[in-house]
Amino acid sequence: MKLSKSQILSFQKSILEFHQRDCAVKPWKTDHNPYKIWVFEVVMQQTRMEQGLPYYERLIKKFPTLYDLAHAEEDALFAVWKGLGYYSRARNLQFTAKYIVKELSGKFPSSYDDLLKLKGIGEYTAAAIASFAFGQNVAVLDGNVHRVLSRFFGLAKTIQSTTDKRYFQDLVNHLLFKGKSAIFNQAMMDMGSQVCKPQNPNCENCLFSNDCKAFNGDKIADLPPKKVRPVLKERYFYCLFVEYKGKVYLEKRSENDIWKGLYQGIVQEGVKLDLKFWEEKDIDVTNVDWSGWQTQTLSHQKVFMKIGRIKVKENKAYTSQLVKKADLAAIPFPRVVSRFLESTV
Ligand code: SF4
Repeated sequence: MKLSKSQILSFQKSILEFHQRDCAVKPWKTDHNPYKIWVFEVVMQQTRMEQGLPYYERLIKKFPTLYDLAHAEEDALFAVWKGLGYYSRARNLQFTAKYIVKELSGKFPSSYDDLLKLKGIGEYTAAAIASFAFGQNVAVLDGNVHRVLSRFFGLAKTIQSTTDKRYFQDLVNHLLFKGKSAIFNQAMMDMGSQVCKPQNPNCENCLFSNDCKAFNGDKIADLPPKKVRPVLKERYFYCLFVEYKGKVYLEKRSENDIWKGLYQGIVQEGVKLDLKFWEEKDIDVTNVDWSGWQTQTLSHQKVFMKIGRIKVKENKAYTSQLVKKADLAAIPFPRVVSRFLESTV
């Protein structure tokens, strides 16, 4: 999309005015620390601010520096992350912290291109760190920024395909106020989250309303267009918590599969109970009172799980460890399990 100089200047003027008038102070804003910005942005992915902020604060309290995170036990990290979901983000966070400490002598890369090379850091996070921490002239493109641009310029495109994403990235790069990238980026994201919201945008108080194509063309409900949802693979599990003398057998998921590093009871995969599986483990499941199907939607899978409990009189040698029942609350379980346990305490 070709923009005239006056279009760019007018857009920049409005966004800077919005920043002065309405932008919220971010918790890391005062020190421009790349580590804190990184943690903040990773926590906030697919999470609302009210939900994510306490997690960010707990993570920074527990692991105040890159070194603390790099040297932490995975279980300790997962314990703080518990409830946020998407544990692969936490695992990548720690992998990259270790890499920076070991391979880069603890020095955070400052360029967008070098940041992009790090595991778990995509275009959005690299742009956020490069601009917020190091003042680089890189524009951030997230769902909020995309929505503002789609509506303001009347562009009926998602950012699902690489081509469309590149289109919007080029557009926002053109609009970026060079030398004030941090302010510009923060204002664009806040504009999308606070004013140009997905539902009921506050157009009456929007500094962009005079020139906004969606507002003036009555197209707000149509822009941006809805994303095409991927078809989710369905998986079914039975998860049994076997209790012995006030302790519960737990397995840690170690396969390269969903929920790697999280804990569970003894688990059988399949839509039907596989009695042979349980017989081999010497567990009689005929009288287990299974829950109904509990569900959790992951990025590419929909999980259905029945959860049950059973007490045994013998200390069996399962490939699992015994954990006191009282300690279960601190154990990182998949969300579908922890939600069920919390609701049945
Ligand atoms: S006028 Fe409404 S739709 Fe247009 S940018 Fe402002 S809030 Fe968004």
